[in-house]
Amino acid sequence: MEKQKKRSWAEPYKIKMVELVHMSSYEERKLALETAGYNTFLLKSRDVYIDLLTDSGTSAMSDRQWAGIMMGDEAYAGSENFYHLEETIQKYYGYKHIVPTHQGRAAEHIISQLMIKKGDVIPGNMYFTTTKLHQELAGGKFVDVIIDEAHDPDNEHPFKGNIDLKKLQKVIDTYGPDKIPYVAVATAVNMAGGQPLSLSNLYAVRELTNKYNIKIIHDMTRVAENAFFIKDRESGYSDKSVADIVREICDLTDGATMSAKKDALVNIGGFLAVNDNELFEKARNMVVVYEGLHTYGGLAGRDMEALAIGITESVDENHIKARVGQVVYLGDKLIEMGIPVVKPIGSHGVFLNAKKFLPHLTQDMFPAQALSSEIYLDSGVRTMERGIVSAGRNNETGKHNYPNLELVRLTIPRRVYTQAHMDVVAESIEQVYQHREQITGLQMIYEPEYLRFFQARFAKL
Ligand SMILES: *Cc1c(COP(=O)(O)O)cnc(C)c1O
Repeated sequence: MEKQKKRSWAEPYKIKMVELVHMSSYEERKLALETAGYNTFLLKSRDVYIDLLTDSGTSAMSDRQWAGIMMGDEAYAGSENFYHLEETIQKYYGYKHIVPTHQGRAAEHIISQLMIKKGDVIPGNMYFTTTKLHQELAGGKFVDVIIDEAHDPDNEHPFKGNIDLKKLQKVIDTYGPDKIPYVAVATAVNMAGGQPLSLSNLYAVRELTNKYNIKIIHDMTRVAENAFFIKDRESGYSDKSVADIVREICDLTDGATMSAKKDALVNIGGFLAVNDNELFEKARNMVVVYEGLHTYGGLAGRDMEALAIGITESVDENHIKARVGQVVYLGDKLIEMGIPVVKPIGSHGVFLNAKKFLPHLTQDMFPAQALSSEIYLDSGVRTMERGIVSAGRNNETGKHNYPNLELVRLTIPRRVYTQAHMDVVAESIEQVYQHREQITGLQMIYEPEYLRFFQARFAKL
């Protein structure tokens, strides 16, 4: 039989409304970059042509979601939209109780304050900036237990988000299970490059944690994207639906924090989900202090409605295939051009390996930050640093953390850009790559106390 040709991933939607963007000149960009202290987070959106800073809250909502916005029930208590959201989360994710929050970090705050005691240790599959900070603010210490392959940008392991069971066992043996309130398991691990974990790994983690009565809290920000990779790569799952795989993942965990601004296709929103009744009572009491009443938690009724609809759309097979397809399209194009990127291509973005791109810069010259600036200068494409700046300082020594991965993230918003935009991005990076030897490093001239990558300022060395 003739081998079937690979078919394209084209978008399962058509465009109904457009937003015009400003196409700036080189001189405008040079000035904007200087004004922003070489930090792309400090650029004004109006100075950006293609915005790949983040996939957080930047997705295009569907006509149905916008229709949902019009059906907001803005009652202070017991909004209709809350019950729709609760029902949707129970149906697709299976968690028993939910507490809405304005975004993911608010859910992280609540769960960290409720579960972590001073001196506790939280093992996890690579840190995430806000997650780790909330663990530390609650008196805990994060310990990375992701497999070694995740720290190697060239290793093509299909599940670089997996937890190393030996490392996890060692943390349990060293600190004792009583010091471990939960294991933090992220799906489609952001800082590793959007790398998935396999279900077989999660089953093994569940088995080990059950033995010691340790809970699993799931950072489910990109669970549908992870599920897509499981369907694509893990044996035994090709015939299962993404929705079923999402449910299987959630069912193996005890609770979750969700930044709905990613997978769930809304511009703002999040939630905490837990199965334990007592923990839920505490969480819904605490949310009143920091976010709002437990039936809205910092969200308008209309936002909860858009989120409920977004969750349903996020697990649609055609949606997720095109979403990841577009990311892989850009990644493959860059690989073809010989640009050093993290492999395999991840779920929500393409990550440039700045150490390899700019080998003449040492890590304390902030190569990823410098590269991100240079890409903006070339084309108005905005990206972000995920390297030494994001990794912050060691809590005890006050010195920079030196992560293995020094990356620039090209994050693709969902349903926003076209294939032609991806071509323009790839061409810009190729252009920058051609004159990479002339790119100079940076020095940090202002450093804020928390999550420094957001507001730090730099100057050319
Ligand atoms: C974005 C993100 C968060 C934090 O969520 P916010 O909505 O930005 O507060 C937590 N974990 C991961 C993996 C994320 O990508």
